[in-house]
Amino acid sequence: MPELPEVETVVRGLRPHLVGRTIASVDQRRRDLREKFPARFAARLEGQRITGVERRAKYILIHLADGNVLVVHLGMTGQLVIGAKPNALGLHDHVVIALDDGRVMRFNDVRRFGLMDIVPAAALTTHKRFRGIGPEPLAAAFGGAVLENAFKGRKGPIKAALLDQRHVAGIGNIYACEALYLARISPRRRTGTIRRERAASLASAIRTVLEKAVAAGGSSARDYVNANGEQGLFQTEWVVYDQEGEPCPSCRAPIKRIVQSGRSTFYCPKCQR
Ligand SMILES: [Zn+2]
Repeated sequence: MPELPEVETVVRGLRPHLVGRTIASVDQRRRDLREKFPARFAARLEGQRITGVERRAKYILIHLADGNVLVVHLGMTGQLVIGAKPNALGLHDHVVIALDDGRVMRFNDVRRFGLMDIVPAAALTTHKRFRGIGPEPLAAAFGGAVLENAFKGRKGPIKAALLDQRHVAGIGNIYACEALYLARISPRRRTGTIRRERAASLASAIRTVLEKAVAAGGSSARDYVNANGEQGLFQTEWVVYDQEGEPCPSCRAPIKRIVQSGRSTFYCPKCQR
């Protein structure tokens, strides 16, 4: 499932191709993905100039000149790829957006957990999809104080708290495991006990892991590709994620796998306390 670095990589890849272009036509080939498309989806996009492309949590936001935003979520297997008009469309190409320069942007999604919506830009912070989402970990204001405040009094394990989008936006299973390892914090540790220096070191570990992953173009565990259809490389840099039984690079103890809230957690039982 694409997490923040993968979505950020798609956004950075799309931006130079999309900003300033006008949407010539939209071929909507299904009535729904994870949810129904909004009413008059194609008609509301056609003829609109694209004024910006940004990311909020795991959402891609394509701003339009009329003040609306095309919101895209990649779900589990979604791909948003830009390129020349293909001779034939694939079975899972659900939306094809043609641009005024002759190129097309295809939304391909095998499992159809992705979604597309149109939301007014003025409602982005209050809309149901966005109002509960926590701070962006790559924003300047993010740091130990933000985390300590979010974690205060919470009893569950820290791993689960990191996956909760109300605390930090965009972190999923892979980057939660990697950040906890880097901060030397056990994934089972009670959330509310992470304060001051440890909260600061976790905040800095989250940023480091996410920035390195963005620099590597994200992780391509399964289906993820960037806006040009290329895979990311960060999966080769996973230190603990999916490394069960491999030696910890720091202490050589075998990396352990446990299941928390139904998801695999990978960590070093010696280094992480
Ligand atoms: Zn270790």
